[in-house]
Amino acid sequence: MPPLLRVDDLRAYYFGFRGTRVVKAIDGVSFSLEAGETFGLVGESGCGKTSTCHAIVRLLPPSARIVSGRIELEGEDLLGKSQTEMRQIRGRRIATILQDPMASLDPLFSIYDQVAEPAYYHRAFRGRRLRQRVKELLSAVRIPSPERRMKDLPHQMSGGMRQRIVGAIALAGGPQVIIADEPTTNLDVTIQLQYLNLLKDLQRASGVALIFVTHNLGIVAKMCDKVGVMYAGKIVEMQSVRGLFYNPRHPYTRALLDSIPKLGTKDPLYVIPGQPPDLSRLPAGCSFQPRCQSAMERCRVEEPSEQHLDDAATTRCWLPLHEATTRG
Ligand code: SF4
Repeated sequence: MPPLLRVDDLRAYYFGFRGTRVVKAIDGVSFSLEAGETFGLVGESGCGKTSTCHAIVRLLPPSARIVSGRIELEGEDLLGKSQTEMRQIRGRRIATILQDPMASLDPLFSIYDQVAEPAYYHRAFRGRRLRQRVKELLSAVRIPSPERRMKDLPHQMSGGMRQRIVGAIALAGGPQVIIADEPTTNLDVTIQLQYLNLLKDLQRASGVALIFVTHNLGIVAKMCDKVGVMYAGKIVEMQSVRGLFYNPRHPYTRALLDSIPKLGTKDPLYVIPGQPPDLSRLPAGCSFQPRCQSAMERCRVEEPSEQHLDDAATTRCWLPLHEATTRG
């Protein structure tokens, strides 16, 4: 049986005026996802995480084009679908939660209208059943007094409530996959944990698969089953969440882990040297080479291919970390 979602060797580039500048935003990304599973996509800003999510739902901006690869949902080829067919898939089979709830909610429509729309459009709820469905969804995302609050406009809700409303909208179409793109970035730390627990509970109840985009490795540890670490448009390491934290293989993953602030130490915070590369002017060889402390001559001339390691992990590095350790 095919996996629920499979992304295979996906490449999407942004093209400048008359094709003068090409930005390789997604450069050979592959992963798969099963029902009920959570896949984390991590990496610094601009590494291609959000572009990958937009490509899956075919919502890349007009200047970008998917140039090769496959995206399959239960074996169905999504890249062969028309935009009309994709409108039936977005919301009904793949829903998205974005990081800024105010950008996702329409300030002029009531909470009821916005939660009801996908349930009406994708699941044919009508009349009293539709109202009941909206109430259930608002209760599921823990909005107090849902009957009363459904008449409110978005500005009458707190930031945390608005983000939970966006979660209710994502669930309203009964999707198989939810793509959550940094959904806690705009929440106070005090309510981030509540929101993550809520997402987990909703996932357990519905069996939906989650793609969780974040740059916060603490969230990865809490939420994800497996993780893809992105750098310069590529997944440079794929691991189970446990493997990532206890046995990282790529120097970039190691550097990300080292930059997590640690309690009870007076050591200065580790900062990854240099800057993420300009995707239109990538260095020769390995893209991480100018910042990598293990770089060798080969890294400067030859781009590392994907290597399958012994424990089902993959990495794109000529000197995966266990080798680096044994070589001293
Ligand atoms: Fe570092 Fe070389 Fe591995 Fe790139 S291929 S991460 S430069 S060791």
